[in-house]
Amino acid sequence: MTASIIDGKAFAANLKEQIAKKVKFLKENHNLIPGLAVVLVGEDPASQVYVRNKNKSTKAAGMNSYEHLMDDDVTEAELIAKVTELNNDPAVHGILVQLPLPKHINEAAVIETIIPEKDVDGFHVINSGLLATGGNGMVPCTPLGCIMMLKDKLGNLSGLDAVVVGRSNIVGKPMAQLLLKESCTVTIAHSRTKNLAEVVGRSDIVVAAVGVPELVKGSWIKPGATVIDVGINRITKEDGKTKLVGDVEFAVAVERAGAITPVPGGVGPMTIAVLLQNTVTAACRQMGIDEPA
Ligand code: NDP
Repeated sequence: MTASIIDGKAFAANLKEQIAKKVKFLKENHNLIPGLAVVLVGEDPASQVYVRNKNKSTKAAGMNSYEHLMDDDVTEAELIAKVTELNNDPAVHGILVQLPLPKHINEAAVIETIIPEKDVDGFHVINSGLLATGGNGMVPCTPLGCIMMLKDKLGNLSGLDAVVVGRSNIVGKPMAQLLLKESCTVTIAHSRTKNLAEVVGRSDIVVAAVGVPELVKGSWIKPGATVIDVGINRITKEDGKTKLVGDVEFAVAVERAGAITPVPGGVGPMTIAVLLQNTVTAACRQMGIDEPA
């Protein structure tokens, strides 16, 4: 069997189109322009690229984008003051502090300063708690994008066996919560898991979020399973050039799976699209407006 490829790029493009329509509706009917503020500390090249892309996509959707660039040597107190200022700014409906932050700053302290209603990354402990208890908070973008693609591909996920490889707060754990919410039987695997091959091999859904190139072997995949590869790893090929690979051994997995996301072009493009969606949701909730369908 050769898997069907889940085209995250096309899915994200479609989602962005729908978001742009919602933004237009909100502007015309409620005089509301959702606004996203992104705070970037320092000059990490990868973070600069992410922030630039977020800014571009936010504007393309018709929303307001506010970039706040701060020097590497900013103090924690100064950063917290900036976040507090954004909390109090009515034009800002979503706040994202680009991670990682420099070592001298306590990331958790900064994230916990963002008011949960504006926490469009869904990393605030109140939002993690709401997700874990079935509440209606902001959900982290990458896992939310994964569940959207899974539901689009499979429809009802109820009763399916799912494994999430990785237990980070930003991907693995919220992913597991979302699968549980869809009534999957969920296993969370991590670096201490015994016999990962066997755990993966009995799963109808495999979500890999590890950060180790091709850790999940293609031969482990249950025939017909749906594979979502969150990993983004840059490796050097024999000819010295570099390329991006996921956490799943794609070339073999594609021959066994029923459906699979590629890297690049799978989960990656969905993350920014969902960030925009979360900003629209946050803006509507803050203004007490029903979100347009
Ligand atoms: P973390 O490093 O925070 O977490 C990695 C997880 O993988 C940990 O829970 C760790 O287990 C587990 N792990 C490590 N080695 C093994 C192993 N040999 N077997 C089983 N589990 C293992 O990573 P993130 O969750 O932040 O990111 C994961 C990947 O997803 C990365 O490649 C990252 O670049 C990518 N990513 C992609 C995004 C996108 O938009 N597409 C967004 C966010 C991340 P333990 O807890 O025991 O140490």
